[in-house]
Parts: sequence; C-alpha cells; structure tokens
Amino acid sequence: MEKIVDTHVHLSEHQDDALIRFAQINGLSYTLDELLNTMRSNNVTHGLLLSPPLQGSGCLSNDEIVKLCVKSGKMLSPVVTVEPSYKEVRAAIKFAEENQREVKAFKIRLGYVNASAENPVFDKLYDYAVAEGLPVLFHTGDTAFSSGDLARSHPLTLDRVANKRENMTIVLCHFGNPWFDDVAELIYKHPNVYTDTSGLTTAEDAYHEKYAAWLARKISEAVYYAGGAEKIMFGTDYPVSKYSDALDLIRRLDVEEGDKEKILGGNAERVFDL
Ligand SMILES: [Zn+2]
Repeated sequence: MEKIVDTHVHLSEHQDDALIRFAQINGLSYTLDELLNTMRSNNVTHGLLLSPPLQGSGCLSNDEIVKLCVKSGKMLSPVVTVEPSYKEVRAAIKFAEENQREVKAFKIRLGYVNASAENPVFDKLYDYAVAEGLPVLFHTGDTAFSSGDLARSHPLTLDRVANKRENMTIVLCHFGNPWFDDVAELIYKHPNVYTDTSGLTTAEDAYHEKYAAWLARKISEAVYYAGGAEKIMFGTDYPVSKYSDALDLIRRLDVEEGDKEKILGGNAERVFDL
C-alpha cells in the first residue's frame, strides 16, 4: 500500500477562521474528526498542520496548532508560522525550542504579510532553521484573498534567499501557482529548494476539468525539466482543496509510477524526517 503524507493542512475549529469560506465551497465541515477520517480513508498516514488565517489579520496561534496536533494522536505534526517582526521571530524560535520533538518546520506567509523573504527580520529564524535542520515553508503564488501582495509571493523572490542560504531547506508552497515554470527552474537550480502541490484545485466551475488537465500538464513538465520528482511533495491545503481532487491531480501526472510515489510520500518523509 502506498504511503501518503499531506505536507500542507490547515485547521482551527474557530468561527473567525478565514478558510471557512473554502470549506463551505467544498462542502466540508472542517473539523478535526472530518480531517482525520478523510486522511484515513485516503491512506494518508501523516499530515503537517499549519496555522490558518483568521478574519481581519493574523492567524491562529502556534500554541493552538500544537494542541490540535496532540488531539490528533500522532497523525498531525505542527509547523510554526512566523510573522515578520523581531519579537515574533524571537517568540517562534523559543516556541520551536520548547516543542523541539514535535515541530517539523516553519512557515512564512509571503503575500499576506508586510515583508519579503529577504527581509533581515527573518535572519535569526533562518539561522535557527539551518542549525536545527528544519525546513522553512513559504507561501508562493496566488493569494487566497484579493488583498494579497503578489510581488512578494512570487517564487523568484526565493532565488536570492536560496543562494545565500544553501543549507536551508526551502519549500515553495502551491508550486508558485501560476508560476509553475519559475518553480521548475528553482527546484532544478537549487539542491535545497522543494515545492508542494497543495491548494491548486478549488470549486467546480465550467472549466474544472480543463483546469485539472492543465495543472497535471504543468507539474508533469516541471518533472521533465527538473529531470525527476525528488523535489515535489503532495499537499492538499485542506480545506482549500478536497482530498479527492488533490490526489486525483497526482494520479493524472504523466510520469513514472515510482515518481508519483515519491511525490505522495517518499519525498516528504525524507525532507521532514517523518
Ligand atoms: Zn495553506
């Protein structure tokens, strides 16, 4: 049986969670029970839990993310979200130290926060991530809300960071959608840069089928360009994408079966030391 890891899941069980809109579109109840049951029924053995945005500004506290992970048994592991202030960076490092056994990575919400990846405010965080061997996830590409800042979430903004920080494992979330070719170049060029396939599919509109085929083509082409699938990891961005759609996208790829297995779980086990 193939082992599947979901590298990008959100959850809060809070009424002001800004992702509830997506849960409603997808007909999901967006609860821990639903998430774990859906993971089990799809052979997903493990998930990385990231803080969802809350209405207004900000996102769920890392404390609450860890609590949800504890409630999940061992199925979910926390990713610590880091906001761009010196105070928040210090707090995130302290939090990661205190929860060292559980924490699997950091996340920076490019496009939603008032800083680019190169901002010196993140220097200490990057130092810590390198020292501890923890990957840093970056939101890249399209933002969930029209107020997002695409100049800061463009995947090419990570090229210089990857040059400067060759020992830091960088994950470009959402394949930089729609900048798939830029991400193909970044994962090919940098040994330390990876990407995930989360949050690419949403509601069924008139072009759902053609869009799904386009996504599968773009990701397959990135595999050809990079010469392999070692840098690509499966994710859903639950509740933004449904498990059925996110898994269907991987099954559609025009690549070797062994490469699909790497994308579904093998790469994540290696990158996140699961
Ligand atoms: Zn997300």
